[in-house]
Amino acid sequence: MNSQLTIYVVMTFLSGALNLYLACYVCMNRHRYKHSTYFFMAYAAAIAVYCFGSGFGLLAETIEQIKFWTVIQYIGISVSPVVGLMFVMNYLGITLSRKKILTLLIVPIITLVIVATNEWHHLQYKVLEIDPVLGAPYVLQEAGIWYVVHAVYMSSCMVTTLLVALSHWKEVAEVYRAQLFSVILSQLLFMVTSFGYLMGFTPHGIDPLPMVLWLSSLLYLWSINSSPLFVLMPIAKDAIFNSMNDGVIVLDDSMRLIEFNQTSKLYFPQLDRTFVGKDFHEIWYELSGNELSLELELINHTQEIELANDETKRVYQIRTSPLVQVKNSKGIVLIFSDVTELKKLQNKLHYQANYDELTQLYNRRAFMKYCKKDLETAEQSASAFTVMLMDIDHFKEVNDTYGHHIGDQVLQYAVEVCKKYLLEGQVFARYGGEEFAFYLSGYTAKEAEELGNNMRKDLAQQVFRSSKGDIPVTFSMGVAESSHETIETTDQLLNKADKALYAAKQAGRNQVQVYAEQEERAS
Ligand code: GH3
Ligand code: MG
Ligand code: MG
Repeated sequence: MNSQLTIYVVMTFLSGALNLYLACYVCMNRHRYKHSTYFFMAYAAAIAVYCFGSGFGLLAETIEQIKFWTVIQYIGISVSPVVGLMFVMNYLGITLSRKKILTLLIVPIITLVIVATNEWHHLQYKVLEIDPVLGAPYVLQEAGIWYVVHAVYMSSCMVTTLLVALSHWKEVAEVYRAQLFSVILSQLLFMVTSFGYLMGFTPHGIDPLPMVLWLSSLLYLWSINSSPLFVLMPIAKDAIFNSMNDGVIVLDDSMRLIEFNQTSKLYFPQLDRTFVGKDFHEIWYELSGNELSLELELINHTQEIELANDETKRVYQIRTSPLVQVKNSKGIVLIFSDVTELKKLQNKLHYQANYDELTQLYNRRAFMKYCKKDLETAEQSASAFTVMLMDIDHFKEVNDTYGHHIGDQVLQYAVEVCKKYLLEGQVFARYGGEEFAFYLSGYTAKEAEELGNNMRKDLAQQVFRSSKGDIPVTFSMGVAESSHETIETTDQLLNKADKALYAAKQAGRNQVQVYAEQEERAS
């Protein structure tokens, strides 16, 4: 054996041994790792088989031995580019279904069968014989049709692997870059040597790939030992990141998009990888059609926004939290939660707690709350404040004559008529059954009386046209202005309005009465 051949053999066996060691090492330590180990083990084992097949081929002396070791080599070389692709995809968190895995393995299996049965059809090698000049183990070979098919398939797998790895470069956090770099470099080495061989740039009659594969094994060994290749992989991070129920968007310190998870795609279906690196204000405009109204500088802050999604409005709660990355560059994590249903429920509960269902007016509880607050403000600024209580006249008769259902409609009708006279911010509430209450900030009793009379006259002048006939509707009203001499509570003020209302009823109904302090004292 000449010295050059000896070097080939040594390098080839070295590659085989290192890859075998890699496969065994990962296999024995697999309990320490989380993902991708099976694909990696299969990949390293396939390369080891390939290298050993090739190494023994180099020691062969007869064409039969060469052909035998060629078949063994093919067991490794036909599957390794495919398994390599699967490993890298798995490593980067791209899931491969069982069906896809089997489909990817179809060509390697066919290749194996064809190589093993080449004698009968010569589809792989038209000619495969010992080089008449150089002698064994150098061979003269002429590629058959399947050789080309297999070469194209292998090349496609390798190019895809490289592209997949490169396309994830940006997304992979800096701590994982060294790992990805060794994956890319190994693939590159594999590819460049294979192409060189296929193009005829390497030593004649000898496959150079096994001789360089020790280099890629060393790269992987370095990856496993220096950075935790399988312990802390992007896939683990991705799995957590993507299985979160909240949408997560990560920005760098210049407000550019670095990362987003799958859930955020549910909220913003147009969000895709092309947005990575773009300014978030720009992205937001493209996604929502609105200027960004979020205060991104407010860290550890919760904000709510409403976005129209598929013609339905959805409410998102957005939390901003700081992200301290490698090298202390500061970024922002935006966590989106869809709180639409929660908001709906909250709104419903709020509505039920504050509004009257029949008339859509505030209920007594809300009236008391707002009245108390505004009365205090009026008292502090010594401005006028008036409350009015209104009660429908002879309403029992309406119910008795026309039924409760028509009675309800009468209440709604009376509310509609009176509402027209109120300005924005003037509170009108259903105080109880067929009693209503108003409060008017800045109105004296006289002004309120005038307003009440306008409402009263309007209602008295028309009739409610019900399905059971026309119904005249009138009301009586009591007005009370807060005293400027003493500080009054809402209850005291309402009590006065109630007395005035009683007086209006006593005086014949369909009228407005103002509470008069003097009369009260006199009586
Ligand atoms: P007055 O002129 O003295 O006020 O006579 P009135 O018949 O209106 O007497 P009162 O205010 O005491 O009557 C209240 C009636 O209103 C009794 C109750 O059945 C009816 N009522 C209370 N709430 C509702 C309601 O939500 N719908 C209907 N249809 N009737 C109601
Ligand atoms: Mg009443
Ligand atoms: Mg009444």
